[in-house]
Amino acid sequence: ELDWQGKHVTVAGLGVSGIPAARALAARGAVVTVVNDGDDERSRAQAAELEAEGITVRLGDGATLPAGTELVVTTPGWQPDKPLFAAAAEAGVEIWGDVELAWRLRGPDAAPWLAITGTNGKTTTTRMLASILEAAGLRTAAVGNIGVSLLDAVLGEDPYGDLDVLAVELSSYQLHWAPSVRAHSAAVLNLAPDHLDWHGSMEAYAADKGRIYEGNRVACVYNAADPVTEDLVREADVEEGCRAIGFTLGTPGPSQLGVVEGILVDRAFVENRQKNAQELAEVADVQPPAPHNIANALAAAALARAFGVDAKAVRDGLRAFRPDPHRIELVEEVGGVTYVDDSKATNTHAAEASLAAYDPIVWIAGGLAKGATFDELVQKSAKRLRGAVLIGADRALIREALARHAPEVPVVDLDRTDTGAMSEAVREAARLARPGDTVLLAPACASMDMFTNYNKRGEAFADAVRALAATGDA
Ligand code: ADP
Repeated sequence: ELDWQGKHVTVAGLGVSGIPAARALAARGAVVTVVNDGDDERSRAQAAELEAEGITVRLGDGATLPAGTELVVTTPGWQPDKPLFAAAAEAGVEIWGDVELAWRLRGPDAAPWLAITGTNGKTTTTRMLASILEAAGLRTAAVGNIGVSLLDAVLGEDPYGDLDVLAVELSSYQLHWAPSVRAHSAAVLNLAPDHLDWHGSMEAYAADKGRIYEGNRVACVYNAADPVTEDLVREADVEEGCRAIGFTLGTPGPSQLGVVEGILVDRAFVENRQKNAQELAEVADVQPPAPHNIANALAAAALARAFGVDAKAVRDGLRAFRPDPHRIELVEEVGGVTYVDDSKATNTHAAEASLAAYDPIVWIAGGLAKGATFDELVQKSAKRLRGAVLIGADRALIREALARHAPEVPVVDLDRTDTGAMSEAVREAARLARPGDTVLLAPACASMDMFTNYNKRGEAFADAVRALAATGDA
């Protein structure tokens, strides 16, 4: 237990993780100052509340380190190249992320962490894992980079109470500032270029992801189809006896989970020593049963099995799992055409996964490219495309990639970035589609050029599809 009494801590940022951090530190006797770049109405209201509790809040200046700071606690949105961090490094002041703080404040009997990171599939896999753990009768919660406070769960605040084990989603940002976290077991699902502006380079991004394996006690779970994840396991410093466990969509090797004739099987943690594989579930038990999602299910199963969960609970937990909205969500069938909302596919790696799951496809894409290129994505998906409808600020990049690699695919370039463009996009897609086709919203881009976030984009798509169904003009 650290002695926080009178310690001067600066919290960088308000928000879902900054506010609980400030409160938890103040409750332990620390002298807390929150610094925040923004100075809008919302942050002023939050500041007033915190100030009433004896916490100092400095709005509109996140650059200067308050005099006397002994520790900086940062929230995930803050880029590592911020002047505040340079000032802290200069002054020899340690920097912790919100996850590091949660780890350090956890009690002696705190629940162990099963941790998950990766470029795509984190939230899905974390929720699948929690569903499996629940099916095994364990008290658990899906926490971390999932929109709820990890700190609250770790401290057993309402509504969490006592937990047996945590399913923790960690972003690369959070791992960057979490040097001492030691998971029971952890998985890196996949690695593709994303957020390179934050991390500086692909190497730095991979190194931050790889941190999740440091000090693992039971299993480091890697993706056999993504050798970089296995390299990260090899480079990690783990506890004695900790095993490398792979997952594959093919036949598993020893110490792997995989798929044999439509059955998810485990060769790493076998209950009956007479058998060399344990059957876990059927592919059809996983929703949706798309290849990338089977991979997510195998990763979740591997972590649960590392924690000692039996095969039946894996099956029950996967069956009970339902995906979150806007992640390959079936909206409706209109005139024999299936409309699928994968608005959460905000990068090319994610879009590639959902484009691989359907055939033929009328693809709705575009938005903010965040520096991405689309050649590889288009090359891999070209033969499944019936047509494409492009929207958003960076649609020209996709149009050019289509012209290069799929010149025969009809493209409708809407040249619109207003919110209403989505209903026109859906009508155009309906025109291109034939019965049996899938119209897939998988933008491969961020949404902020047209929408507040990917949820709003997905809702606009679903509304447009329902309007189409209502008018019956499909
Ligand atoms: P994250 O939390 O990492 O953003 P999600 O589970 O929310 O991941 O899924 C985001 C999107 O990524 C999904 O809509 C889907 O398009 C895609 N996706 C999910 N799992 C995978 C995977 N294993 N590999 C590639 N893409 C995936």
